[in-house]
Amino acid sequence: MSDKLQRDLEQNKKFQDTYIHTAAEPWLPFCPGIDFKLLRTTQETGAWTALFKCAVGSKFDRHEHLGAGEYVMISGKMEIRGGAQNGGITAYTGDYGYEPNGVIHDHTEFPEESVLYFTNNGPIRFIDENNQTVFVLDWQVLQGMETDAKSKLKTAA
Ligand code: ZN
Repeated sequence: MSDKLQRDLEQNKKFQDTYIHTAAEPWLPFCPGIDFKLLRTTQETGAWTALFKCAVGSKFDRHEHLGAGEYVMISGKMEIRGGAQNGGITAYTGDYGYEPNGVIHDHTEFPEESVLYFTNNGPIRFIDENNQTVFVLDWQVLQGMETDAKSKLKTAA
């Protein structure tokens, strides 16, 4: 082993890389038509990162971001706020988007089967038409959903 490699290994002991071979992880149910793979959560900031696989015609219900979000479309097509033809955004394979803290998204729909990589720097508050809270999705809820879904997979196996 070279001195440099030895030095790097010593330095990196203080840090921890995260590596997930996502293809080996199961898709877990998130909501009707949408599955997820939770990649990372952080207690410090409440940020979390997930992959979502969205069936044709599935949607995320109306919500408010309580932390900025970022996505990359790995495949498919996502229509935010009605899509480009209604003054919103239509994101295609390879597209990137930033969603500011505080933004409200009405139903986000998937006219094609889609996979997206998504990071949110905080919770997402799902809301009704009057902006009343229906459900708050945060890093701990996501961890709980992942744990429950994985234990059900084991029971079913
Ligand atoms: Zn959103």
